[in-house]
Amino acid sequence: MNASAHKSVTVHNLTKRYADVAALKDVNLDIPAGEFCTLLGASGSGKTTLLKVIAGFECHDTGTIEIGGRDVSGTPVAERNIGMVFQNYALFPHMSVYKNVAFGLEMRKCSATEIAKRVDEVLALVSLSDLAQRFPAELSGGQQQRVALARALVINPDILLMDEPLGALDKNLRQSIQLQLRQLHRDIGATIIYVTHDQEEALHLSDRIVILDEGRVVQEGTARDLYFEPVNPFVADFLGECNFLVLEDGTEVGLRPEALSVVSAGDRSGKQISMTLDTQVFMGSGIKLVGRYLDQQVVVLVSNQDAVELPEPGSIVDLSFDERSVIRF
Ligand code: ADP
Ligand code: MG
Repeated sequence: MNASAHKSVTVHNLTKRYADVAALKDVNLDIPAGEFCTLLGASGSGKTTLLKVIAGFECHDTGTIEIGGRDVSGTPVAERNIGMVFQNYALFPHMSVYKNVAFGLEMRKCSATEIAKRVDEVLALVSLSDLAQRFPAELSGGQQQRVALARALVINPDILLMDEPLGALDKNLRQSIQLQLRQLHRDIGATIIYVTHDQEEALHLSDRIVILDEGRVVQEGTARDLYFEPVNPFVADFLGECNFLVLEDGTEVGLRPEALSVVSAGDRSGKQISMTLDTQVFMGSGIKLVGRYLDQQVVVLVSNQDAVELPEPGSIVDLSFDERSVIRF
């Protein structure tokens, strides 16, 4: 892909209402060219609205949108040079893979030679060269989604917007396409704004994650920033699991399940609390211990290597944690 694929996106004080619903409230974003940015939020938090406003499918009420430093408020969708991929692939069923991908270039009146060259390039990029003559109904969900991606990429978009593109796929396929997407992002260096409600997917894919709640940006940063330094309990709980505990001395702490470890009797390292164990849940790579401390639920994640001598439900388990792993709000 050529250099036009590197454009920044800046959104300033953006608001958008649908009748009585305030879908976006004073949203500010500054996405550098070439970044993989994920909008993460629960259903109804405004993710799709934000993408649609950036693409130009919806008008905003106040604020500005700049792509590559240029205000696009008055620019129609077709002229914003944006590639879009949705959850439902929206392929043309009566056209072959090749034709589906070529369509956008035909609309732009490119020459036949140019179209052939470009479609071949893009199909190779998404590993679909062998399936060019198939029809959508003859493809798996994952393959159809890659056609949709090829179709978005073929026009050399300045930015690529993706709205829950893997939502319809099963977990294994989703993970394999996530890896391919990361690789693709490295290969083409495009600016990608990706929407998901799946925190694991956000962690796997993104350079930066923007957390939306009820139309507002609650926090943005790298996956590490958000995981280790969430600004509030909502973010802490949304991105991973978190124990919110009031300790015996009255201090309030946030502790990730993996920040707590089981200590053997007599060990006095770190800060300690004792919980009564309720259940153990085998998670494959680890084991979750769920118990109670001063009537508060505590979840502890232990490695299954350490699981040989796990206590029985009903017993008292001594836990320790390092002060440095405590999240304070
Ligand atoms: P998300 O994609 O995060 O699930 P949306 O952007 O689709 O959220 O929706 C944000 C809010 O705006 C929701 O309360 C939703 O009901 C409302 N909304 C979205 N589209 C419309 C519309 N066309 N008309 C009225 N309300 C809408
Ligand atoms: Mg949505």
